[in-house]
Formats: sequence, structure tokens, C-alpha cells
Amino acid sequence: MSNERRGARGSPPRQASHINCEREVLAMKIDVVIVGGGPAGLSAALILGRCHRQVLLCDDEQPRNRASHAIHGLLGREGRSPSAFLGEARQELTRYKSVSIRWTRVNDITPADEGFEFTCADGTTGIASKVLLATGIVDELPEIAGVEALYGVSVHHCLYCDGFEYAGKPVAAFGKGDEGADLAVMMKHWMADVVACSDGTEISADAARKLKQHGIPLRNEPIASVEGAEGVLTKIRFKSGPDLDRAALFFSTGCHQASDLSELLGCKRDRKGGVVTDSATEETSVPGVYVAGDVSRDVLLVAAAIAEGAKAAVAINKAFLLRDGFCE
Ligand SMILES: Cc1cc2nc3c(=O)[nH]c(=O)nc-3n(C[C@H](O)[C@H](O)[C@H](O)COP(=O)(O)OP(=O)(O)OC[C@H]3O[C@@H](n4cnc5c(N)ncnc54)[C@H](O)[C@@H]3O)c2cc1C
Repeated sequence: MSNERRGARGSPPRQASHINCEREVLAMKIDVVIVGGGPAGLSAALILGRCHRQVLLCDDEQPRNRASHAIHGLLGREGRSPSAFLGEARQELTRYKSVSIRWTRVNDITPADEGFEFTCADGTTGIASKVLLATGIVDELPEIAGVEALYGVSVHHCLYCDGFEYAGKPVAAFGKGDEGADLAVMMKHWMADVVACSDGTEISADAARKLKQHGIPLRNEPIASVEGAEGVLTKIRFKSGPDLDRAALFFSTGCHQASDLSELLGCKRDRKGGVVTDSATEETSVPGVYVAGDVSRDVLLVAAAIAEGAKAAVAINKAFLLRDGFCE
């Protein structure tokens, strides 16, 4: 690959694009600025490129699943590493000359006469007729010593992504109060040997009843650390009481938006902090601003992000076709 350059350590190959000149400050007028180059943003860029739309995709290379080694549940790409997947997707986009990529953060977007004015950390500025926010979310890891080294390999947040791999293995559910207990009950569908860990917090009588009903033990002592080697969890150490040998820990601690651009633009959010969209078009409460992927906090999977990116791109292209008299 002659135009390949490497991003940060361990990140997928970048593709140089015809306007992607580092340190150059550009002011441009384009059809769509896509903020975020994960599965949602790349999928939208692909469809818009195939519609000959002038697109700038900006990405600051912090994809949500970067700690993971394998994507599960993605038809045709089962087990592919996230970085290989992104590398292939970026490579596919090089075919579309109307699509450019810049490895930078979009700091600001404001409504302007002819659309939206955007400003990037590398000095790029421009006007886009439409905005697509595909900025993703950030998971809040449990505050336990040793978690970061195991995260993505044997410490997980998503049963749909990683639950299948632990059938028949001993696992733990982590969450304060009833959250860990509720997660443990759900995990029982995937795994037989589940222990709930509430990390020094009490659970309600109702949650205790459900644990008992499903034969799930509770460890409520504060956790001192999790231990393992090469990403593989071996045991949970408590501040008091015996260690617990486990192959994996699933947690329920929450997440937040990776970018405040939707808030700056005034897009409506729901109770969970997800951006509210029109389900047919992925357009937000701000006309001309669309979202795709985890930003809406609906189904948080790569397959859903790809689908939402494609859906938003089709809606954006339809809006241009209408504007230009190519359809009614
Ligand atoms: C550890 C882990 C394992 C997972 N495993 C699976 C799995 O096995 N199967 C599955 O289907 N899903 C899995 N997921 C979920 C999956 O990662 C997400 O659903 C998917 O990445 C969502 O895609 P996205 O494009 O919406 O967001 P992301 O992939 O997070 O991409 C968003 C991009 O936007 C960029 N960005 C944010 N703000 C800005 C800004 N202001 N300017 C420029 N760029 C910006 C970020 O740097 C990032 O590159 C996993 C998640 C985690 C955390």
C-alpha cells in the first residue's frame, strides 16, 4: 500500500487522501462533514462517496472498541480485530475521490447561512451543508486495580459481544447495588457459573430474592484488585474473604458521549443521554444534523453502527436530490 501511513501505536493504517495534507490549513465548502471515523462514520462516507457527494470525514482515532482483540456478531467479519476492520474500511474508501479524511478532532460546529461552519484542531475550517455526528461513546470502567490491563480481553461490558465465548466458564458480574445483581441474573442465560460482586455495596431485598431464585451467589465485600496475565483474568481479590477464581468479569457502570458537539448544536437528548433521532432518517431535532452509531445509544453494536451510517447517508442524499429537483 503505497499511500499508507501509520497512526498512533497499534492503530489501523491511515489512508492519505487528496486533501489530507498535515499542517495545511484548509477552508472548504463541502456537502457533508462526518465527525467520527468508526464503523458508523465510515459506512456513511462509503454511501455518500458512491453518490458523488463532497465529504470530509474527521476522526481523532479513539474508537470505542480499541481495547478489544476481536469483533463478534458482525456478519461476514466474525472475529476480525477492530484495527484490521477499520484498516480495510479505510482502504475501501480510497476509491471515492470525493471523500477526504483528516485525522483531527472537530472542536466546534455552528449554524451558518449556507449550512454549518466547522473548525478542527489542526486548523481546518469549512462550511458543510449537512453534518453527520458519528462520534461514539466512552465506557466508564470500574475503578478496580488491574482492570485496564484486562479490559477488552477478559473484562467486558457487553454480553452480545462477548457472552457466547464464556459458556461453561466461571464468570463474575460487577456492579454497585442492584446493577451488578441485575446483570448477574441476565448473564445466567449465557453462563451457568455466575457470581455477583457488589463491591462493598448493599443490594435490595428484591435483587437478593432474584439472585437466590437463579442460584447466583453474592460477594459484597469491597474488591481489592483483579489479577491475570496477558489480558486473561484469573482471580478477583477482595479486601476481606477468600479470592475468587474467574475467567471473565462483566460490568455495568455506564457510559457517556465521546463528544459534546450534539449538545453544542442543541440536539435533543433522551433520559440515557442518547441523541434523539427520526427513526426513518437518523436526523436529529436540529434540521441538517444527523447522527449514526453509538451516539444515539440505541443498539450498541458494530453492525447497528454500520446500518445507521448507511441509513443517515441515504437520507442526506435524498435531501440533496429533493433540493436539486432530482426527486419529489
Ligand atoms: C471493549 C469493547 C468491545 C466491543 N466488542 C464488540 C463486538 O464484539 N461486537 C460489536 O458489534 N460491538 C462491539 N463493541 C461495540 C462497538 O465498538 C461499537 O458499537 C462501535 O464501535 C460503534 O461505532 P461508532 O462508529 O458509533 O463509534 P466508534 O467506533 O467509537 O467511533 C467513533 C469515532 O469518532 C471519533 N470522534 C469522537 N469525537 C470526535 C470529534 N469531536 N472529532 C473527530 N473525531 C471524533 C472517535 O475518536 C472514534 O474514532 C465493543 C465495544 C467495546 C468498548
